[in-house]
Amino acid sequence: MAHIADLAPYDYDREAPDALAVGWLDESAPFATGACPEDVTVRLVELAAHPVRLMRGYHYCQFCWRAAPPPQFLRAAPDVAHGNGEIWITATDGTIYAAPVLIAHYIDAHSYLPPIGFVEAVRTGAPTEGLS
Ligand SMILES: [Zn+2]
Repeated sequence: MAHIADLAPYDYDREAPDALAVGWLDESAPFATGACPEDVTVRLVELAAHPVRLMRGYHYCQFCWRAAPPPQFLRAAPDVAHGNGEIWITATDGTIYAAPVLIAHYIDAHSYLPPIGFVEAVRTGAPTEGLS
């Protein structure tokens, strides 16, 4: 999965609308950690159940992958976090955020703390329209 720094322009796909990237983590770069508010986590899990912009194949969590590398990983694959697709949220101020569905797992399993603007967008914004 491509690494994009939090709040950098989402450039994974040039055809996509302008958006800020959140949660495109990579083990090569440190990320913010902390306690994400429970209501935000719950909402993200709901949103992750209906992802947009589905990719071919799945993204696997590389932090879990590192903890159980192949072939152990492959045997454990059904139990290792993976995701297909993205979560797009439009904040009340019109800012659009693009996150991988794995972001819910990163928060739950790896204590990732997304930027506050994204947290507020999850609480008060709406799924970005016009994506499928
Ligand atoms: Zn993981």
